[in-house]
Amino acid sequence: MKKIKIIDTNEYVEVRKILCLGRNYAEHAKEMNATAPKQPVIFMKPATAIINGDGKIVRPLISKEMHHEIELVVVIGKDGKNIPQEKAYEHIVGYAVGLDMTLRDLQSEAKKQGLPWTLAKGFDTSAPISDIASISNIPNPHNLRMICSVNGEVRQNGNTGNMIFSIPQIIEFISKYISLEKGDLIFTGTPEGVSEVKPGDIIEAEIVGIGKITHEVAGEK
Ligand code: MG
Repeated sequence: MKKIKIIDTNEYVEVRKILCLGRNYAEHAKEMNATAPKQPVIFMKPATAIINGDGKIVRPLISKEMHHEIELVVVIGKDGKNIPQEKAYEHIVGYAVGLDMTLRDLQSEAKKQGLPWTLAKGFDTSAPISDIASISNIPNPHNLRMICSVNGEVRQNGNTGNMIFSIPQIIEFISKYISLEKGDLIFTGTPEGVSEVKPGDIIEAEIVGIGKITHEVAGEK
């Protein structure tokens, strides 16, 4: 079981499932030649995808093209089903900065064939995540600057205020179909600027006020 620390406490969250949003920023949907969705696009990663702390992001041999996607991660602290928007924040324990690492070549092929994205999105090390900032320190999660750099060069420079579906809308939507449990993570989508990373590159992902993670990319041998 993967455990992630809540900053400035002795508490840890044991990660259960990881839910992710696709195309939750209009400019990113555009750069992927996709239209902005009418309802949230949801996919999942297994908890084995997480790296927290040290560790390299490893591009598996089945892929030649891996991309970074910086995302605000919502950490669920209380179980719930059919959670209305007004009660959404009661179910959140905190936030983290995460990377939704994506094997873009596999994903593009899967899209073309109408097949699931599971391997493109759920491979080992595909979900680097920071420690958790307590919700009490983040009064407004919809106005946070997010910056992702590769080898010191800024590639993504966005703001969580540009999400298409807000955090309460996302929680209401998902929990109609899938029960949310303490320890679930929700990756809320990425702004524009996604790009390829290669073995040897250093990725830095920061959400100001929440945290920063730094990982080297490696190729599977
Ligand atoms: Mg993503």
